[in-house]
Amino acid sequence: MQQPPAPTQQAPSAPGAQPPPPAPAEQIQDAIDEATSGDRVIDTDRGKSHGLDKCPRCGSSDVHYRIESRALVCDYCRNEWNEDNAEKAFHLDTPIQELRGDHVASGAQDVQAGDSMVTIKCQGCGAEIVVKSDETLQARCHWCRQVLSINHQIPNGAVPDAVLPFTLTREQAVEQIKKFVDSRRTFANRTFVKEFVPDNVKGVYMPYMVVDGNLHTDLRGTGEITTRTYTVQRRVGKDQTVSERYWDASVHELGRSFDVLVNDLTAGSSRQYDRTDSSAATNYILDAVQPYDTREALVFNPNYLSRFTSERRDLDIDDLDERVEDKFLTIAREKARPTIAQYDRGVRWEREGVAIRGTRWITMYVPVWLYSYYQQTSKGSYVHYIAVNGRTGKTMGSVPVSHPRIFSLACAGGAVATAAAAVVGWGVFLTQGF
Ligand SMILES: [Zn+2]
Ligand SMILES: [Zn+2]
Repeated sequence: MQQPPAPTQQAPSAPGAQPPPPAPAEQIQDAIDEATSGDRVIDTDRGKSHGLDKCPRCGSSDVHYRIESRALVCDYCRNEWNEDNAEKAFHLDTPIQELRGDHVASGAQDVQAGDSMVTIKCQGCGAEIVVKSDETLQARCHWCRQVLSINHQIPNGAVPDAVLPFTLTREQAVEQIKKFVDSRRTFANRTFVKEFVPDNVKGVYMPYMVVDGNLHTDLRGTGEITTRTYTVQRRVGKDQTVSERYWDASVHELGRSFDVLVNDLTAGSSRQYDRTDSSAATNYILDAVQPYDTREALVFNPNYLSRFTSERRDLDIDDLDERVEDKFLTIAREKARPTIAQYDRGVRWEREGVAIRGTRWITMYVPVWLYSYYQQTSKGSYVHYIAVNGRTGKTMGSVPVSHPRIFSLACAGGAVATAAAAVVGWGVFLTQGF
């Protein structure tokens, strides 16, 4: 196979009907912006006052989430119950094609920096307890030991709209992490292997924005169709010939203009775990254990968080909307793919636009079992994560590798490709658990 020459034929238009030139996405967007103005707020605040979040049967405040029961459990009377499904409770299941303008749940509004202290009056004994809401949403009264909850949404990102509780137990997560490391032990850094304690896993609720989108997309570019292929014998030197393969192609301008409905796109909204920043830790691991069954999320209740840790949201819609629009465009390109199959030599989109008719944003805590390993390097320490989706068990991680071990094994033969892949980049394995 030789270098393909440039196409030898030029045809200005596609065979058959040419689509009418669609209105550019910017024009549609201008019209939309005129018709819809300002964000609409979806109120998801539970309307309860700060203080006790009691068992509905006996009134005890000693409540926690029990994975085996998949329910909140009262430690006193053993009553089990759950909050309502968030999608139904907040009417988030209205058809996406009817979305106009930006709808923002009250828990997804901009985070305000500053004072995160909340004073809670204990309804048991009347004492006033100060809680740092960016560290915990629950505290015990120092005097009467009642559990106190922060129930109001406060503008510091600590109280989301919805929560997706853990269904995978700690033991199951430890098993997954063990399996993940075992299959990579050969190349792993010796210190890591020695220090690996699979039980050092913590259950963390990570803040995500969950976005619906009603979009119109407009793609334009050129596509090429092969019209003829042929082989030419070419003389090289005195008595040698080589055969070269050529093809002719017709080049067509094309446009695709269609609506796209996006349901439950997720975007991480913690700065510390931002997937685009892996300078201090392998943050991208967290996104790699998606997807989550976000439709099953429940109305937020701080009792789901007790005995787990949680990360506070500190990224706003403005920090994430560019990333979300990029994902919208990727989805649009994918949707166009089946319609361009006849361009066997490929399509190059030269102009791409997405007009957004409407969006819906809510914040959600999703469950992750997280193993962290601090690797000491000459430049300081670097954190490797192994993450397990707290709903599905999907596991992803980075394991520091031992370069001398890779090379000695590679020389022994058989492992060259794996070794090469592991040496590139950060020198980590990134492979799917199952
Ligand atoms: Zn009870
Ligand atoms: Zn008290």
